[in-house]
Amino acid sequence: MKPIIILGGGLAGLTIALFLRKQMVPCEVYELRDENFRKGGDIALTPNALRVLDHVGVYGRVRTQGWNYDTVRMINVAGKHLGSHTWGGQRRFHYYCLRINRDIVRRALLEEALVQGIPVHLNKKCVSISEGEDEVIVAFEDGETVSSEFLIGADGIHSLARQYLYPGSVAQYSGLLVALGHTQRARVGTALDGVHLPTMLFGQNGIFSILPNDYAGTEIGYFITTDVPDRGQEKWALLEKDKAAIAQILDEIVEEKGWPQFVRDLIRTTRFEDLRTWP
Ligand SMILES: Cc1cc2nc3c(=O)[nH]c(=O)nc-3n(C[C@H](O)[C@H](O)[C@H](O)COP(=O)(O)OP(=O)(O)OC[C@H]3O[C@@H](n4cnc5c(N)ncnc54)[C@H](O)[C@@H]3O)c2cc1C
Repeated sequence: MKPIIILGGGLAGLTIALFLRKQMVPCEVYELRDENFRKGGDIALTPNALRVLDHVGVYGRVRTQGWNYDTVRMINVAGKHLGSHTWGGQRRFHYYCLRINRDIVRRALLEEALVQGIPVHLNKKCVSISEGEDEVIVAFEDGETVSSEFLIGADGIHSLARQYLYPGSVAQYSGLLVALGHTQRARVGTALDGVHLPTMLFGQNGIFSILPNDYAGTEIGYFITTDVPDRGQEKWALLEKDKAAIAQILDEIVEEKGWPQFVRDLIRTTRFEDLRTWP
């Protein structure tokens, strides 16, 4: 049997490669980016995801590189407690929830894949997928083709594998924009004293979530989820570069509806380069 082709070396592709390795099923990963690529953004990994990472031998490496937490507190902008939700915890789930930079997880998976001897081919942009009698054939931009009985498409939101199976399918904007940033806890002074972390604030025109990104809780991340009309890919790309415009979106949301001062302090102490958007 030829090695299974895994298209995409992101979180999904590398994780499934490690799973297959555990079952002694040969596979090879083909990833568009090169070794200098760093994937941005922070994610919350719930116990189900952490159990998977543990199974493939990566959890121990990432656990102390992010914020471990159990309960998320929900309040409205006037500070009224709406409820608490348990996302993780040693006793109930065997894992705390982990807020961590996505790239730390990706690199830990990549390192483990290399330790396990899984071939990971970087700088390999797939440009076409086709089928022969008993095989799937993948062609890369550099002219190389590979074939196997199986292809696993783990090539992300604009997946070519999905397009091959479902021609014409394209990712569509859902109407929600996430605007996010992070600042140092030391910069906001006493503003966060007494604020449970993580907290989600529910406002009329957006949900504001606050949670640390690192193990010690020194870096405070936040993101707001809000309805914004579609601007089209080009304009979204421009917005991502225009940090002043992102700051303005955040300011407008939190100014308008009487949000608490600590939310404004978080935004005010954020450096422009630490602001991002995800339509
Ligand atoms: C704002 C935001 C917040 C999120 N928060 C969370 C969270 O808190 N918790 C959570 O669990 N999830 C969260 N997610 C979702 C999570 O990030 C994704 O589910 C996850 O990253 C998907 O992993 P993936 O490996 O499927 O795709 P990706 O990480 O996109 O990986 C796909 C890989 O395929 C490669 N590739 C693409 N095209 C080709 C090609 N033609 N040839 C070769 N390689 C190719 C890419 O370079 C990439 O490395 C969030 C997502 C967003 C946008």
